[in-house]
Amino acid sequence: MHLARFPRLHLAHLPTPLEPMKRLSKELGVEIWIKRDDCTGMSTGGNKTRKLEFLMAEAEAQGADMVMTQGATQTNHGRQTAAFAAKLGMDCHILLEDRTGYNNPNYNNNGNVLLDHLHGATTEKFAGGTDMVAEMERAAEKKRAEGRNVYVIPGGGSNPTGALGYVNCAFELLNQANERSLKIDRVVHATGSSGTQAGLVTGMCAMNAQVPVLGIGTRAPQEKQEQMVYDLACKTAEKLGCAGVVKREDVMANTDYVGEGYGLPTEKGIEAIQMFAELEGILLDPVYSAKGASGLIDLARKGEFKDERIVFLHTGGAVGLFGYDFAFDHESRWVSA
Ligand SMILES: *Cc1c(COP(=O)(O)O)cnc(C)c1O
Repeated sequence: MHLARFPRLHLAHLPTPLEPMKRLSKELGVEIWIKRDDCTGMSTGGNKTRKLEFLMAEAEAQGADMVMTQGATQTNHGRQTAAFAAKLGMDCHILLEDRTGYNNPNYNNNGNVLLDHLHGATTEKFAGGTDMVAEMERAAEKKRAEGRNVYVIPGGGSNPTGALGYVNCAFELLNQANERSLKIDRVVHATGSSGTQAGLVTGMCAMNAQVPVLGIGTRAPQEKQEQMVYDLACKTAEKLGCAGVVKREDVMANTDYVGEGYGLPTEKGIEAIQMFAELEGILLDPVYSAKGASGLIDLARKGEFKDERIVFLHTGGAVGLFGYDFAFDHESRWVSA
């Protein structure tokens, strides 16, 4: 498999570290390593950086002078797209869907939104439930009519081009494992718009790695989530010239940790944030990585990973913490010694 056949911008800080989490492992009685894709660079990093290396290279190759994408108010993908656009001297417009209904000023202006604006992107707000794909098409057509060359990136950067970034991650992770003779029994990570898992699964299958990948859902029910990942994995394999390597049973998602809905913090997610922060000094975010980690923690406690060596892929998102400060307890930490 030859990824160099596809245009790519080498802007990510790679390879990302693969580190043991000794205190968390001891706490849970399962050996857990962490792949630090929260440290990929470009406006603090996160999983979208790997996708954008391929997506933005395509935008540049097509002569785009503007990129457009969409997501929830606190979209990490939007923030990272804005950073890439700044680096490449393109304009960036982000359509934001209000999926939570929060009036909180930090949710609406801090965290990722603050950084979108710092990178020079413009943002536009839409009510929850809006057909964002149609809105983005409309917005792009308007700009094209004004003479702009607009490159449109789907939500989460999840198409076969973006998923190449996670095919690349599968190669990188297996290399690290092989160099250290570190047998990996399973990879666990938060899954949303599906590009991360689709790319990882495609890469693992194409290399016959026999490393199962478990996605922990953050939005859709299981059947829908798995189908989305599978469909994108099939298209990604086709793009790579290895159609058919991914079987339906290679795609596994557990969606028991979504809680009340996308972007709404869960109790178990908050506990996961506190455990990672206090045991490992690592920051998670309430929308994705905390829900992923809450699945990891709960399944470990239930004995699902008995005698396995797990790699938790940290997909980033900690910038979102500053939009969710209201979800945490500060009171008990203010003391007079
Ligand atoms: C986008 C995102 C995910 C989900 O990745 P997908 O490729 O959309 O499935 C997970 N974690 C974080 C922090 C993200 O921003």
